[in-house]
Amino acid sequence: MQHAVKVLISEDEIRERVHALGKQIEADYQGRPLTILAVLTGSLIVLADLVRRIGVPHRIALIQASSYPGATTTATTLVINETFAPDVSGRDVLLLDDILDTGHTLSALVRHVADRGAKSVRTAVLLRKVGRQEVPLEPDYCGFTIPNAFVVGYGLDYDDDYRHLPFVGVLDQQDQEAGPR
Ligand code: 5GP
Ligand code: MG
Ligand code: MG
Repeated sequence: MQHAVKVLISEDEIRERVHALGKQIEADYQGRPLTILAVLTGSLIVLADLVRRIGVPHRIALIQASSYPGATTTATTLVINETFAPDVSGRDVLLLDDILDTGHTLSALVRHVADRGAKSVRTAVLLRKVGRQEVPLEPDYCGFTIPNAFVVGYGLDYDDDYRHLPFVGVLDQQDQEAGPR
């Protein structure tokens, strides 16, 4: 069933902010062997928009980390799948995720990438939720800070739907009671 979605961050706001982040990353990584390691699947849309704003040579790579199977939002064991992740040893890695919630996913990935011999590891997130973080991790690049609500769109899903929406939104309150837990 499709729920109504209220716009939280518009397409224009996202475009502007992603552009600014891209330019910031471009300035910071001049002359460095940058690999952007995007966390599947939620960061795919921001990845595509962001990399086209970064005017320095860099590689794109993908890694999967899931702690939210199906429709549940209760964290389970984090599973890292690096089938499509290249060798990052000696590279400056920028981990890119859609949203920083508790911080468990990103902090585990930072450790993982460091263990793989990366020269440096930084983090970028499109969104960061207020008052939810359980792990002390400061993202190096952050698009927007948002209230504690379950958001979808621009890559983010609810039970694998809504990723295609060009904006970030909140599932309608009335529907939400019967929706994500
Ligand atoms: P963390 O490990 O920081 O708690 O969770 C990060 C992951 O949880 C994100 O990569 C994302 O997949 C999922 N997540 C957390 N909050 C939301 C949300 O509001 N909406 C959606 N769609 N996914 C979320
Ligand atoms: Mg995720
Ligand atoms: Mg998800």
